Parts: sequence; structure tokens; C-alpha cells
Amino acid sequence: MTPTAPPAPANAQQAAKAAAEFLQELSSFAQQKGFIWGPAPEIYGGLSGFYDYGPLGKLLKNNVERAIRDTFQVNDFWEVECPTVMQAKVWEASGHLGGFSDPLIVCSKCKANFRVDRLLEELFPGKFVKPENYLAFIEENGVTCPSCQSAFNKEIKKHSLMLRTTVGIDIEAYNRPETATTTYLPFPRYFEFFRKKLPFGVFQIGKAYRNEISPRQFVLRMREFTQAEAQLFIFGDQKSAFTPYERIKDDTLPFWSWKLQEGQLPPAAMTVSDALANGNFKNKAYAYTVWLAYTVFTNAGVPADRIRLRQHAPDEKAFYADDAWDIEVKLNTFGWTEMCGVHDRTTYDLTQHSKFSGKDLSVSDETHKKEIPHILEIAFGVD
Ligand SMILES: [Zn+2]
Repeated sequence: MTPTAPPAPANAQQAAKAAAEFLQELSSFAQQKGFIWGPAPEIYGGLSGFYDYGPLGKLLKNNVERAIRDTFQVNDFWEVECPTVMQAKVWEASGHLGGFSDPLIVCSKCKANFRVDRLLEELFPGKFVKPENYLAFIEENGVTCPSCQSAFNKEIKKHSLMLRTTVGIDIEAYNRPETATTTYLPFPRYFEFFRKKLPFGVFQIGKAYRNEISPRQFVLRMREFTQAEAQLFIFGDQKSAFTPYERIKDDTLPFWSWKLQEGQLPPAAMTVSDALANGNFKNKAYAYTVWLAYTVFTNAGVPADRIRLRQHAPDEKAFYADDAWDIEVKLNTFGWTEMCGVHDRTTYDLTQHSKFSGKDLSVSDETHKKEIPHILEIAFGVD
């Protein structure tokens, strides 16, 4: 904590201390009992953000993955496995090479690097600062380097999270930062496999890589991690007439719409159909996708009273997302934490990959002329 930062109330400080102690205790328990070891490789001093799963940890992780797999399969999603390394062009098309980065600020004296959003989150808990206002905010509040209390350079750098590699002699390639993009690309193959009928669902459980500046929070934020992501490919007009919705519409879920958040009200238990009727979702297919994400988490053993569904505010949504909800889970150490994103990505991805690959990804059936399908997506980390 810098001298210039506003002092946190004593109880918040105590809470932070208790949380840090709990995390310490949890990670030493995990290490001693053979769940998680690291950072790995320990005999070489470890590389931050990489961990071994010991025998009990691997058993536990297998069980979690099994629960995820079962839930998706029971709901008609088919598992696939795609490569973890792909050439630069794929990541240009997906937007990751240009835009998948963290904001970085450097101390003018000791040259230490900090992730701006994390730093501000720690110093000003609960305060949301827009990225375009970072420098002004830092100046106004006199935020200085936590290591040496000197001023920061007046520049926000972009630190790419993409882990680069070279394939063969000179092919520029990247480790995937998520499973998702690789799952979209065999779309023409899926379309044949599913007898040229939409909608259909696929999912992947596999490794992804993010070159975080300073990974912390134990296995919550690793540089190599396991993700589970599911995609529903669907024609735009099918979203409002999605029959699996009828099966789940009477289930009650803890919805925290952005209107409730704005009014500082707690999440409301509501049936999926009421949530749809109240305008919380644009269509049945998306409502179903949110239900499915929630069901994956409860089936994997997360207690229902520790889960809430949080809608993104209109100005918080990613540029491609038409509708966006997160699943948040209440953790002993970090409080309510975003664990899963459910996005209506519309036609964005297949349009991009049509353009960059030169292969037309629009398809047709008896009732649709050639059209680019939409993608509804569930994305979360398994670790
Ligand atoms: Zn410094």
C-alpha cells in the first residue's frame, strides 16, 4: 500500500489479511497432501504461473472434468479436440494479435512493471476506472510505485498475452489463449457431420496459454491452464424458437441483472421464463445457454448458494457480444469472482474467419438461404 492511497477501513484490512492467510493455508495444504505442486519445475526454482497436479489433484481435476463433460453431453453437445498451436493469421482474424493485452505501467525509477487494472483494484477496491482514464486517475490520486514510491512513467503500454512460438523453421505461430477460436475453425466439417442442420453444439476441454505479466492467486490465474468452452452454432432466426428451452424454462436461477446492480439490489431468484419475459435475455437460445452454464457449475459440485449470474452493463460488454452474462462464484479468499462468461458472439467469429481464410463459411438449409451462423458460447477455466 502506498502512503498516498486512501486508508482502507480496519475491517477491510483485516478481511484482506484473513483472506491472504487462508490462501496461504490452502496452498500449503494442497502442496503437502499431493494436490498441487509448484510453481513448477520446483527443483529449478519454478516458473511463475505453471503448476503440477499431484496424484490427488489430478484425480480431483478428472472428476471435475467428468462432471463438465457429462453435463454438456447430456444436453446434446459433442466433444472435439483441436490443436493448441496455430499460425499467426488465425489470431489476426480472431483479433487476439491486435487486442488481447493487459495494460502495463512502468515505474520511472525502479522500472518495475505493474498491471494497471489490478493495481487500481487493489488500491481502490470496488472502484471501476475506464481504461482511457487510467493515466488521469493515477495522476489525480497520486498513485505511486508500490515497490519504491516513485512516480510512474506517463504511458500505458500494452502487454500482449499471446505466447509466441516458431513452427518448423520460420512459421510464426502462437499457443492458443483460449480453446474457443480453434473450435470455430472446423465449422464446415461440423456442418457435414451434423447432416447440414443447425443448431448444433460442440465443446472442448483443453489447455490454453496466457502470458500474464505477474501471475498470482495460486491456480486461479496461471500461464498454462485448462479451459472448457462450449459453442452452439445457430441461425439467427432460430434463437427465438429454440425447443430445448421449453424443458428448462421453469427452473429458478439467481439472476443479477444490471438494473438490479445499478439499484444496488441483490440478485433475484427467478425462473428462466420470467427472466426472459422481463427482458433479461434477448432470446430463448441465449437463456438456455446461461441455464446450461449454471447447471455445469452446480453439477460440478459448486454449492448453489455460492453462485450468482451477473449481467454485463451495456457499456461493459465486449464489442462483439450481443448479450453477456457471467457466472460468479463466492470464494473464501477472493470473494465473488468471475468464473465463466456466457456470450452471444453473433456472426462475428465466422465472418472474420471467412474473410481471413478466404473460405465462405455461410451455409444454407431448406428454410435458410446462405447465411453465416451465430455462435452462443460458454467459456470457463477448469483449474
Ligand atoms: Zn519503483
